[in-house]
Amino acid sequence: MGKKHIITSALLYANGPIHIGHIAGAYLPADIYVRFLKLNNEDVAFICGSDEHGAAITLQAKKLGLTPKEIIDKYHNLNKKTFAEFGIDFSIYHRTSEKIHHETAKEFFTSLEKNNSFEVKTTEQYYDDSINQFLADRYIEGECPKCRYNYAYGDQCEKCGSALSPNELINPKSTISGNKPILKKTKHWYLPMAKHEKWLEKWIDEGMLNDSMHHDSKTWKTQVLGQCKSWISSGLKSRAITRDLDWGITVPLENSEGKVLYVWFDAPIGYISATKEWAKLNNKKWEDYWKSSDTELVHFIGKDNIVFHCLIFPIILKLQKNYILPKNVPANEFLNLEGNKLSTSKNWAIWLHEYLIDFKDQQDSLRYTLCATAPENKDTDFTWKDFQARNNNELVSILGNFVNRVVVLTNKYWDGIVPEKIVTNEYDDHIITSLELFPKKIAHSIKKFRFREALIEMMNLARLGNKYLADCEPWKIIKSDEKRAKTILNISLQITASLSILSEPFIPFTSKKLKDILNLTNLKWDDAGKTIINSGHKINTGTHLFTKIEDDKIQKMIDKLNTNKNEN
Ligand SMILES: [Zn+2]
Repeated sequence: MGKKHIITSALLYANGPIHIGHIAGAYLPADIYVRFLKLNNEDVAFICGSDEHGAAITLQAKKLGLTPKEIIDKYHNLNKKTFAEFGIDFSIYHRTSEKIHHETAKEFFTSLEKNNSFEVKTTEQYYDDSINQFLADRYIEGECPKCRYNYAYGDQCEKCGSALSPNELINPKSTISGNKPILKKTKHWYLPMAKHEKWLEKWIDEGMLNDSMHHDSKTWKTQVLGQCKSWISSGLKSRAITRDLDWGITVPLENSEGKVLYVWFDAPIGYISATKEWAKLNNKKWEDYWKSSDTELVHFIGKDNIVFHCLIFPIILKLQKNYILPKNVPANEFLNLEGNKLSTSKNWAIWLHEYLIDFKDQQDSLRYTLCATAPENKDTDFTWKDFQARNNNELVSILGNFVNRVVVLTNKYWDGIVPEKIVTNEYDDHIITSLELFPKKIAHSIKKFRFREALIEMMNLARLGNKYLADCEPWKIIKSDEKRAKTILNISLQITASLSILSEPFIPFTSKKLKDILNLTNLKWDDAGKTIINSGHKINTGTHLFTKIEDDKIQKMIDKLNTNKNEN
């Protein structure tokens, strides 16, 4: 086994189904990266799960007249199944309600408390006296002081991404009763972030940690660095890591009734408790993955989570000693839908579990489109028309067409037996040399978290194959020069076999189909670009890799979206 990696995707709030924005932000990129690492024999733990705490869930439960657990159980199971069906290949999909997680989070809190890493403060906080309850950040709504958005929450503005505290909101109101809340005294534990500014700045800016090189800061995305630097330069404030709430992990101290750990304190620790569970099930040592400087930790998240993964969680990890910090946090920007912000409450979304019914067995068409339009450096837009065009004009016409021609010709002329490469000419040699370069080029982009660029290169290989066949016309040459036709097909089959490897991170279902057609198993990234199939090897007859998507189907999807919108 190669190097150890802990790859995490943001724990998903278990209060709703998954939509394409989630997938494009934190799950598909992570899956592409993990599949690539595994093809390179690396030792990977790919960690995710449900975040079951937080006020958003209790808020929804209140609205629906259910208990938080009833909501969570439903969505945890649905989302776990949806991720699996979409090919997101987690090592474990854990839950923060598990005992091992509660214990781990409490251990973290207790050891920080013993080391005097917290400040304890009594402050005035918003209280809704019509329901006798302190209002958690998510129960308070008001105007964002930064961008003037009217519906910012007490902890964050979802419009501009700023992290907020409730008393910064202009005209706050309780989202439960709609009343203006009053201020009342309460005691909480705070993480004094200002104490950590110096080392955080060096770590973020220069990649230096404890006076040695931790990572190359130039490999971090500019928007991630930008957000962190603006946080640090405006001065880090102490953040309360406990809340007055009846749902969550109880504070493990005496005289702290009615208080739980803040969801953003316990959720990232969920990566560690999930790793513990995974290690137990797989006979591994979890410490090897979290406490060994040889292990690479990478967090895949959306841009709204940058502060928690780049500042708060690293502080918590460093205070614990022995824990590693992330090598990179390649956060994505947001994906929009048909020109508008994705919205669960307005039902302006494409839900994954519904897509899997509407487009049965076509997971790769969506994976492909979401990778091709991924919001890697700026917000991007998903449209049904673009999805159709990418499926029909790229997957069907380029990749599918190339593979189909190669497989059909091999079966038609040589009964599926791979023909010999006899004498190559200058053009063949140029194709063979070009083929050799693709695995390196694609790997280079993937290692830099530039998955769009990597995907384009993968398709360029299929384009190269198509051009080679079109230029050489083996179906014509075979009548006069069978030897020449054999050489052309042998080379085309090597390209096809390389594609079956290089496509796996992006479109794993297609990669599997292609390997089945070619009758190949156990291929690794390093095999790509070389002679993979020897002459005399028998391949199977082909099925079409992709199906054309017709206009009326796309119109139906657009209509469905608009109907949902009008109903809201
Ligand atoms: Zn704002």
